[in-house]
Amino acid sequence: MGAPTGEQAVTLPVLVIGAGLAGTVAAARLQARGVPVRVLADRPGATLLHGGGWQLGPDALRESHPAAEAALDDALDFVRIGLESLALTEGLFDLPDVEGARRACELAPATHAVVDGFGKGHAVADLSPLGHPFAAMQGRGTVVTVEWPPYPDVFGRSFAAMAHRLEADPTEPARLIEALKRALKGTRHDALLLPPVLGISRTEALRRQVAAALGIPVGEALDALPSTPGFRLHAALTAWLNAARVPMQTARVASISLDPLGVQVGDLLVPARAIVLATGRYLTGGLTMHPAVREPLADLPLTPSVPTNPLWHARTDGPYDGRVFETGVGHDPGFRALGLDGRPVHPHVYAVGDLLGGGDTLTQASASGMCIASAWVAATTIADGFATGEKT
Ligand SMILES: Cc1cc2nc3c(=O)[nH]c(=O)nc-3n(C[C@H](O)[C@H](O)[C@H](O)COP(=O)(O)OP(=O)(O)OC[C@H]3O[C@@H](n4cnc5c(N)ncnc54)[C@H](O)[C@@H]3O)c2cc1C
Repeated sequence: MGAPTGEQAVTLPVLVIGAGLAGTVAAARLQARGVPVRVLADRPGATLLHGGGWQLGPDALRESHPAAEAALDDALDFVRIGLESLALTEGLFDLPDVEGARRACELAPATHAVVDGFGKGHAVADLSPLGHPFAAMQGRGTVVTVEWPPYPDVFGRSFAAMAHRLEADPTEPARLIEALKRALKGTRHDALLLPPVLGISRTEALRRQVAAALGIPVGEALDALPSTPGFRLHAALTAWLNAARVPMQTARVASISLDPLGVQVGDLLVPARAIVLATGRYLTGGLTMHPAVREPLADLPLTPSVPTNPLWHARTDGPYDGRVFETGVGHDPGFRALGLDGRPVHPHVYAVGDLLGGGDTLTQASASGMCIASAWVAATTIADGFATGEKT
């Protein structure tokens, strides 16, 4: 196949397209294995909307993507170290979100995971100036009114905005603690549930600080949109790539060339040793919908196939045929992208994360598991090829 050959190919980087959960794990793993890598991405995707409860879905993965399930534990070990600031905790959690719904997940930042241990005697903080009915919607615990935040002008009056503000202003945590102490004075609660406002990149430190000051465990609910945990995850992924010194470039890739192997950015064809597509789904343009559902960078075939115009299949209980969310790029056990003949479209082109087809990972509750395991396998496959001096 027409990639650059010989010494030139060996020195070329692997190009990872996308810097969400999947692209970051792939790039960090390649870098850790000593493989030259570069990330190209143009804007945050679904990862910025992540609600905080990581759904790994090992059973669903075993059914639909056994290669991912087999690598899940190794991928998890790697991710927990890379995202140390999130203090990711494993378990079988049933966690509340800000709207009082319960969400099952197998991994969560400590600030949410700790809530699983709360008994019946906990307080729920009503941050009344924000005007969000968070506390009223919880249905468990006793609501206590907290006169914080003091700002009427918080953009969007969202928890995410408050979390940014709390971290940006070094005097703010003390103000929050004082307000919480006033709210809890004279009450006997054994824990405190907050909405997700405890900062963006130092959440665990802030949570411990607040818990130590109050003398009871403190935890946060998962979020809806805009999502504080999504902002935290995005920040932690970016910090991981920076700490690992992975070169990153903001760029929109227009297409992929298989011969010679490379990606087209504007007028430039950037040559690659291998390409990892971590471009997500509809939100980011990893898949496009008009005039038909397709993968736009290499026109990779999608599986399961979808109707040319999904709107023809509109149902009364939802806007689109379910296959629109199940479809995506097919892969071999090493997560090489498959072509029409069911064989890898190129020995060095990979697909990972939300871009993959074969099931709706949101309804199968396996989205995060799929992202990290597929990325880990693809990067490992590439690195093993490097290590054995595989010819391009
Ligand atoms: C609202 C919402 C809530 C969710 N909540 C949860 C949850 O609570 N728990 C859970 O486990 N999962 C959740 N998920 C799923 C989870 O967020 C996704 O599975 C995951 O973030 C996908 O990561 P990704 O890296 O595959 O894609 P994305 O994060 O979408 O990243 C795609 C990347 O590709 C880049 N890109 C795309 N095309 C190009 C191009 N042509 N050129 C350059 N760059 C390009 C984008 O810039 C972006 O960086 C949620 C998803 C949504 C939408």
